[in-house]
Amino acid sequence: MSTQTRILVTGSAGFIGSNVVKKFKDFGFSVWGIDNYSNYYARSMKEQRELEMGLEGVTINADIADRTQLFEIFKKIEPTVVINLAAQGGVRASRIDPSPYLHSNQMGFLNLLNLSREFNVSKFIYASSSSVYGDSEQAPFRESSELPAPKSLYALSKMSNEIVARDFSSPNMTKIGLRFFTVYGPWGRPDMAVFRILASMRLRKDFVLTASPDVKRDFTFVDDVSEVIKFLSSSNVTYGDHQLINVAGGNPYSLAELFSIIEKMGLELKIRIADRDSLDVKLTHASVDKLKSLGIPAPSTSLAQGVERTFDWLRGVDDVRLSEWFEYNS
Ligand code: NAD
Repeated sequence: MSTQTRILVTGSAGFIGSNVVKKFKDFGFSVWGIDNYSNYYARSMKEQRELEMGLEGVTINADIADRTQLFEIFKKIEPTVVINLAAQGGVRASRIDPSPYLHSNQMGFLNLLNLSREFNVSKFIYASSSSVYGDSEQAPFRESSELPAPKSLYALSKMSNEIVARDFSSPNMTKIGLRFFTVYGPWGRPDMAVFRILASMRLRKDFVLTASPDVKRDFTFVDDVSEVIKFLSSSNVTYGDHQLINVAGGNPYSLAELFSIIEKMGLELKIRIADRDSLDVKLTHASVDKLKSLGIPAPSTSLAQGVERTFDWLRGVDDVRLSEWFEYNS
């Protein structure tokens, strides 16, 4: 990566964003962040993350859907690489309020694309999701396959990002959409299964299971995801106008297998079965052929190693804070 590279990461106080910013900082690159500290989960968790990861002062508190504010940031930073990780995540929250999916995932995304072109950004890397594959039964999921109808507003917002990016004319800017698969790890999102399972054990609470133990996920450790983003940001390879790439190890595990990994660690998990959620898909399974054919380092942390590292982090979190993050919006 040239010393002239100036990186702007959106969603920088979030789970993946903070990990990505840390990686760039550790490698000595010029990196700035944007985050609006949305209330989807506890703001205190985002602030604590930044503090403990040594990222204070990196993030500008701003909303990517606010074009005027964003323009001023682009003018000041003049980024050469933009990494858009800011979004309303989760598939369930749209039942309560669909607006953030339109505001952040659609309008925010478009603002960033427009300003990136206007400011001659050379690479625009953005987060898509395995949720675009919906209930597809053609595993492993390939980037070239036709997509089924979206199961949720979240999936629709990511599909629409991919189409907008594909059709957006930007002769000097490469756009790369990364389809992430169930990312987990230290400082992970408190609405996601790995966090909820491990936190419920530490807090001696029941883990409320709303999916069948047979559902399978291509769990991906967060550091492997950051490695892919670092590689793509710094690579001199020409990736063409637009690429879509699965980011995962290509090894799905069922929830039952995840529970057994946890039990082997000598931890006791109490599960309470609740009604199934119709938005959960049965399987996510990435094909990693494209990732490998492009020479990108494929995620390789095993689920057992990743869970162990996540629990090591969780052990050090203060009980009161952990409880606050666990209960917030649950
Ligand atoms: P996260 O919620 O921890 O991080 C997203 C961050 O974006 C948050 O800190 C939030 O405050 C910020 N944000 C939201 N709307 C914003 C706006 N309008 N302006 C500025 N900031 C805004 O989620 P994450 O897990 O780190 O996800 C990062 C990206 O990866 C998202 O685009 C998500 O959809 C995608 N993704 C994540 C996973 C996963 O398993 N974690 C899987 C597939 C895709």
